[in-house]
Amino acid sequence: MLCSPRNMSKPLFVVHDVFQSSLFSPSQRKVLEMDSFFGWFKFAMRPLENEPVILAAIAIDIARNKEWVDYVKKRPNWIVECHGWEHRTYTSIGENQVYSHLSLSCDVIGREFGRRPTTFYPPKCKTSDNVAKAATRAGLAIDNVIHRPGHWIRDNSIEKVYFHFWSSGHITDVRNIMENICHPQHAEQ
Ligand SMILES: [Zn+2]
Repeated sequence: MLCSPRNMSKPLFVVHDVFQSSLFSPSQRKVLEMDSFFGWFKFAMRPLENEPVILAAIAIDIARNKEWVDYVKKRPNWIVECHGWEHRTYTSIGENQVYSHLSLSCDVIGREFGRRPTTFYPPKCKTSDNVAKAATRAGLAIDNVIHRPGHWIRDNSIEKVYFHFWSSGHITDVRNIMENICHPQHAEQ
C-alpha cells in the first residue's frame, strides 16, 4: 500500500464477541483448543491498544470475566457496545424477548463500564423488523457493519469494519492495515 496522505485514514474497527464464554460455534470451539478467548483477544488487540475501537460485548459473560473486564477498563479509547445478552440469532425470537435481552445488556454494560451502550451490533449481522423495534425500545440504534478488514484492504474508502478477535485470518488483516497505513508523524518527515 502506498504511503500518501490519501490513505492516512484507517477504518473504525468493531470487534465482535467480546467477553463471550458460552454458546460457541464449531469454528470457535476449534480455536479454543489453542488458547482461551481472553488470550486470543489480547493477541488480536495488540496493534489497537491506543486506537478508538468499538467492542461489541456479550453482556451475560461480563460477570464471568473480571480479568478481561479490567483489561478493557484500562484502555480508555475502547468503547463497549452491545452484541446481545447471549450470542444468538435474535431474528429467530420474538420482539419482547429481544427487548428484554437488549435492555438487560444495557443495564449490565452501563453499570460495569459507567456508560450505557447506544448501539446494537447484531450477532452474525442479522437483523429484522422485530429486532429493529426491540432495539429502538431499548434505546439502541442498530449498526449492521458488514465489511471485514479484508474488504477495507481492497477498498479503503470503507469507513467501518468488524472482525472476530479469535480468527487468525482477521487478526492478520488487522495487522496488515495497522502496519501499512501512513501515520501522520511519518508523513511530516
Ligand atoms: Zn458475534
